[in-house]
Amino acid sequence: MRRHAASSLLNSACRGGAYKALAISHAARPSIPLVARLSTSGRRFSESPLAQPTNHEIQRSPELPSSRIDDKKVVLGWDTTTYSRFHHIWLRDHCRCPHCFHPHTKQRLVNTFEIPPEIKPTHVESKPEGLEVHWPSSQPHTSIYPWSWLRYNSYDPPMMQPPKPERILWGSKILQDPPTVTHEEAMASDDSGLFKWLSYVDKFGFCFISGVPATPEATEELSRRIGFIRETQYGTFWDFTSDLAKGDTAYTTLALGAHTDTTYFTDPCGLQLFHLLEHTGGTGGATLLVDGFYVASILKELHPEAYELLSTVPVPTHAAGEADALFAPNTANTPVLKHEAGELVQVRWNNDDRSVLRDLRPDQVEPWYDAIRTWYKLLTSPDSEYWVQLSPGTAVVVDNQRVLHGRSAFDGKRRMCGAYIGMDEYRSKLAVLKEKFAPDPVTQDTAATSSVNGRSIWHPAL
Ligand SMILES: [Zn+2]
Repeated sequence: MRRHAASSLLNSACRGGAYKALAISHAARPSIPLVARLSTSGRRFSESPLAQPTNHEIQRSPELPSSRIDDKKVVLGWDTTTYSRFHHIWLRDHCRCPHCFHPHTKQRLVNTFEIPPEIKPTHVESKPEGLEVHWPSSQPHTSIYPWSWLRYNSYDPPMMQPPKPERILWGSKILQDPPTVTHEEAMASDDSGLFKWLSYVDKFGFCFISGVPATPEATEELSRRIGFIRETQYGTFWDFTSDLAKGDTAYTTLALGAHTDTTYFTDPCGLQLFHLLEHTGGTGGATLLVDGFYVASILKELHPEAYELLSTVPVPTHAAGEADALFAPNTANTPVLKHEAGELVQVRWNNDDRSVLRDLRPDQVEPWYDAIRTWYKLLTSPDSEYWVQLSPGTAVVVDNQRVLHGRSAFDGKRRMCGAYIGMDEYRSKLAVLKEKFAPDPVTQDTAATSSVNGRSIWHPAL
């Protein structure tokens, strides 16, 4: 049963390398030049003469949605059976005219607290470009909201969910065709290779970069393509050998089981990029990668009670090997499997860094130990473990909140370098690249008319 479940996931991950075509299908799209600016009326944005129609524009029926004013809400009829209602106060607060919303900084200018609670439009009108709303005021005020934006943000009822990241879970068979980009692609100035690279990280939780010059300088430059390097007690960009320069087992020649780093941070490091620069006079030191989300999916299917315990019992952690640092934040007392809105979003697992377990009920102690035993068995199964012998020239970047890493013991001299990059910095970079290479439907619909400083004022993230 487990084997079957596992192999079907693997098949979907590895079948003919099809995921690669999927991941880069948008990469070749030309970007849309966005040179809109404020019109003289100061209320609308002039349409860019350079704007090109795109293939993915939102399809509208020839008839516009209907609009009418209710006691507390504006009611839009998308068709004869589908309606959305927007509170008057909500619409007024979300006006994006240049008086109410700074088109360059994308920040609210309207003073929300000066809007009368009982505000009500004097008139609404369905226009091709969107819903036009006229507000009572000593100075007349008109707002316009694009249809695609209203549909996306409909909350009464909710109509559209933000797209979920497309994740491909993998096991040991990923070795047949692991996600890889070349150093040339990653560094290319048009950023299409960077988009491909970060899209792989988004889907698989890791990616190799081949052909990297085996120097700390080139590796640091590669790291900074993604974002700021996150400084920790191990330094900014690190470059180390097994000399126990820092009080952590990473600085030894010992084998390290699959783990995530910095479990003892409130916000564990997002990405880790590392590069083996040199290994001479010895053997061993193979790199281990395990997809924590894949293993969690098997645990959930086969041992739901264990999954529940790993998702709820807080696990305190610490880093205390350096005399001048003591990390043991209460806020890090999150479970091994962290969820948001029912979705697994983070795996935090390093049994070596675990502190005293005391935030659980007495009757949970034995079941919890049974649960981590099961988790450990799945993590270390040959079906889950992806072993790879790295050599100078191939760097790897790992999503430290999803993919666990480890290594086998070694002898000889092994020099590693690398960096951490914050999760928010990485996600920001990926979001910017998506705007360029794979824009969302609302951005596509509004970019030509409402872009200021290269970003639509109606971008769904705002
Ligand atoms: Zn306004």
